[in-house]
Amino acid sequence: MNQESPSLLSLVIPVFNESEALEVFLHEVGIVFTPIEGLQLELIFVNDGSTDDTLHQLLALQQKDHRITIVDLSRNFGKESAMTAGLDIASGEAVVPIDVDLQDPLPLVLEMVKLWRKGFDVVLGRRINRDVDSWAKRTSAHWFYRIQNRISNPKLPESVGDFRLMDRKVVEALKQLPESQRFMKGLFAWIGFKTVTLDYVRTERTRGSSKFNTWKLWNFALEGITSFSTDPLRIWTYIGLMISLMSFGFALFILFKVLILGIDVPGYASLMVAITFLGGLQLVGIGILGEYLGRTYLESKRRPIYVVREIHRGTHEWI
Ligand code: UDP
Ligand code: MG
Repeated sequence: MNQESPSLLSLVIPVFNESEALEVFLHEVGIVFTPIEGLQLELIFVNDGSTDDTLHQLLALQQKDHRITIVDLSRNFGKESAMTAGLDIASGEAVVPIDVDLQDPLPLVLEMVKLWRKGFDVVLGRRINRDVDSWAKRTSAHWFYRIQNRISNPKLPESVGDFRLMDRKVVEALKQLPESQRFMKGLFAWIGFKTVTLDYVRTERTRGSSKFNTWKLWNFALEGITSFSTDPLRIWTYIGLMISLMSFGFALFILFKVLILGIDVPGYASLMVAITFLGGLQLVGIGILGEYLGRTYLESKRRPIYVVREIHRGTHEWI
């Protein structure tokens, strides 16, 4: 936050098969970040196991722009892990994770920097439109936030993604979180700090295509909920208690029928319903237990979050 010497800003850009989007992104960086801003820039591209020529392109671009650092991961680890790798290596006084497809507008970064210089530790980018997303993605996102925020602590701000500015001390705090299952939005929210929100309009992807399909998003949502709440586990105690109570009442009712009104043989339907209903319920309960157990298992292995194949360091200098 030093006003005299330019502050170092790191952009962390995870890329997975983005050869079409790289040049457009860098072109835009050149337009937005002029020396007048009093900022020194560090561009950290994390190559998340791309199978196209993203890495080659990055290496070529680095020859022209020495502010580029390339972290080449050994395979595709997913955006969350790639972002973690970038945050780990970033040295800026402020760090901004950003998508390469220009869906997170670069000029907004300058607005974020202004607020950061006013003393905020975190500046969140909140999208005010969701119309570039499909109906299914919008609806599922809405329900995800409703459920997540009902049962987990801290609350996740809605329509806020990974695009945000973080002060160095926030990044350091983030690095202290040891979990290998990384649901970044949740981790970001968990660490707290003095936060302010900036609204923006999210545009269509410039080049290439989205790397997330429905199945990936569903697992992502499960990850979010199970990482930050144990309510789905606890709810079974209550469901169990309620059903026990109900069956006790039902037992009294049957006893009454048999003892007072005489034996009544037919009962196949109610028996079948009870068996299948309870069977299904138990399986769901076991499934949820399994979900948590699986995550505990993965966590207990203590594997690193990502594996780096090579780091091609830049110099922060623009030539
Ligand atoms: N990404 C990544 N690893 C992955 C998937 C995506 O590093 O396994 C990167 C991708 O290259 C992009 C950013 O994450 O820079 C956001 O991805 P995308 O635009 O596909 O997501 P969407 O905007 O559709 O949610
Ligand atoms: Mg995108």
